[in-house]
Amino acid sequence: MQQNNILISVKNLTKTYGKGNLAARVLDLKHLEIMEGDFISVTGPSGCGKSTLLNLLSALDRPSGGDIFFRGENIVGLNETALCKYRKAKIGFVFQSHHLIPSLNALKNVLLPALTTGNGFPGRARELLGMVGLAGKERRLPGQLSGGEQQRVAIARSLIMDPDLILADEPTGNLDTASGEIILDLFKRLNRLGKTMIMATHDPQVAGACGRIIRLRDGRIVSDSRL
Ligand code: ADP
Ligand code: MG
Repeated sequence: MQQNNILISVKNLTKTYGKGNLAARVLDLKHLEIMEGDFISVTGPSGCGKSTLLNLLSALDRPSGGDIFFRGENIVGLNETALCKYRKAKIGFVFQSHHLIPSLNALKNVLLPALTTGNGFPGRARELLGMVGLAGKERRLPGQLSGGEQQRVAIARSLIMDPDLILADEPTGNLDTASGEIILDLFKRLNRLGKTMIMATHDPQVAGACGRIIRLRDGRIVSDSRL
């Protein structure tokens, strides 16, 4: 695992909602560096800007100001087509509510991001479902899987394009403790395999499982520590 290369460098990143008197700055980060191989939790109370930060890093949303350099390239100025390409090739995203397609089985859900890309992926999707402990359940619909299993399908889906960075927004938020632990163990394993991970969580115990904890309050970093 590479530990010393900068994957993402953020400068003067801001997000403001509303205009004029109603404008509210919900994120204001002077400087942040994410290293290759980091396993980061972004934590802090509800509304502190965790999801906003993840959405900006994944280019699901655009900042109001500032720059985000991914391996040296500023993604903030990219057009929509280039941003789509960035998201697809570099980022895996896991949401709190997994956003699986209810009418597609587990295998097809995992394959979804690769549909326009060509061959070789069904085997890879099967392999990923095996890795997340769902071998034999490829043909199940999301409704025939537990919440934790559905989240594991979503994690397999996030890996299908072999992204450099996995962003997870409260991935254990809807799960019981045991299922949450399985997800955390899986993330630790992915990190050991070299994936850079950033996970938003308001749960201190989940945050404590990561190698680096970034605490936000009112959109600002109040601490950034390595364990
Ligand atoms: P967290 O994920 O830490 O709970 P968020 O990043 O979702 O926090 O939200 C940060 C702040 O931005 C909150 O005060 C929230 O109300 C506000 N916010 C988020 N999305 C919008 C939006 N689309 N319009 C206006 N305010 C928003
Ligand atoms: Mg959130």
